[in-house]
Amino acid sequence: MSVTEAIAPGAIAKKPLVANPDLFTSKPSLIGLTRPQMAKALHEKGVPEKQLRMRVNQLWHWLYIRGVSDFDAMTNVAKDMREMLKEHFTIARPEIVEEQISNDGTRKWLLRFPSRGAGRPVEIETVYIPEEGRGTLCISSQVGCTLTCSFCHTGTQKLVRNLTAEEILSQLLLARDRLGDFPGADTPPGAFVPTGDRKVTNIVMMGMGEPLYNFDSVKTALLIATDGDGLSLSKRRVTLSTSGVVPEIYRTGEEIGVMLAISLHAVRDELRDMLVPINKKYPLKELLDACRAYPSLSNARRITFEYVMLKDVNDSLEDAKLMVQLLKGIPAKINLIPFNPWPGTNYQCSDWATIEKFADFINQAGYASPIRTPRGRDILAACGQLKSESERMRKTERLAFEAMMIAGHGEDDD
Ligand code: SAH
Ligand code: SF4
Repeated sequence: MSVTEAIAPGAIAKKPLVANPDLFTSKPSLIGLTRPQMAKALHEKGVPEKQLRMRVNQLWHWLYIRGVSDFDAMTNVAKDMREMLKEHFTIARPEIVEEQISNDGTRKWLLRFPSRGAGRPVEIETVYIPEEGRGTLCISSQVGCTLTCSFCHTGTQKLVRNLTAEEILSQLLLARDRLGDFPGADTPPGAFVPTGDRKVTNIVMMGMGEPLYNFDSVKTALLIATDGDGLSLSKRRVTLSTSGVVPEIYRTGEEIGVMLAISLHAVRDELRDMLVPINKKYPLKELLDACRAYPSLSNARRITFEYVMLKDVNDSLEDAKLMVQLLKGIPAKINLIPFNPWPGTNYQCSDWATIEKFADFINQAGYASPIRTPRGRDILAACGQLKSESERMRKTERLAFEAMMIAGHGEDDD
């Protein structure tokens, strides 16, 4: 059951807005399956071989073009077929535990998924950042993270579990539900959304977790999100951010083909070993070789390098110079991210003047280097350090967070 009332900016909806009746049942979902997987699931429940293709196409249309979350809405599917589907499968959305809307239009949803063996239900956050010409959805891939980047709050949380392809894709479906972004749906009154046809125009895999440590589910979800007969986002508008899992960067290029963002954060191995410890396994040279080999790079298809500005750690002009040398030959844009402090961290954000000097140097070397401007401050919507319910901060601690935005990822033109 989905509720469509609008929530005033700044308001927090505490009670579940979308209660998922199947949350505690074991019915498998039809969302997030590849076409062959869906055909197999249907066949196992008695759908004849010769109907499979047609049924899969039918379901695909209802799930991903029309965005339905109720089998009864599938009006061209016979009633007995719908009953069979209802008995064996679910297409319900996850439960929304909390929806927050910032004064600047940024939206954040706290979503609850079943435990799937992880002990108890898990919670993750998805953030929507609207701008004039685009609406970017920041999606999570894991609950927690196995990696321990020293400046990242998610890195202090243990991995609770990987999200399934369904759960990754559901973040997009749910955001589109709430924004009235499916055919025939109304946008909530007063919502800040981009002016074009679509409300969600871009996706960034920059929520919780390391997407390349959950490769198969991320791949399946992103291939459905970019499938021309379904959600049909352009691959140029989908950006996957990784801390640098080199073998899976090659696979991402070959098997997914979306835009790539690299959490660089340091340009010397000794420092990167400390900030982004996966560097010990895949040092800078290997990482940049993988970037150079990324398919179809050009000035119009560049790799984004994310660089968090840490006071007196990685913010010297010497670092900026090294960065320019290191990235030579790679079509790149550099995103300087003001460090977002969290309780217990020893790092500080670089001074604004230092960040500007750093950015100027890089600009002069010919790189676009936008500095992310903070968004959604009032609802603490910080991509890159979203937390899970399993390690919730006290309210006073949460106030220490600053929000930032994720603009500058993905391309505008198709
Ligand atoms: N695990 C993936 C994607 C999620 S993090 C990755 O590491 O790329 C998204 C971005 O936010 C990454 O570049 C990450 O390094 C950055 N980030 C994490 N914590 C941050 C913080 N406290 N302040 C600023 N950026 C942060
Ligand atoms: Fe994990 Fe990315 Fe945070 Fe590193 S920066 S701990 S990879 S979420």
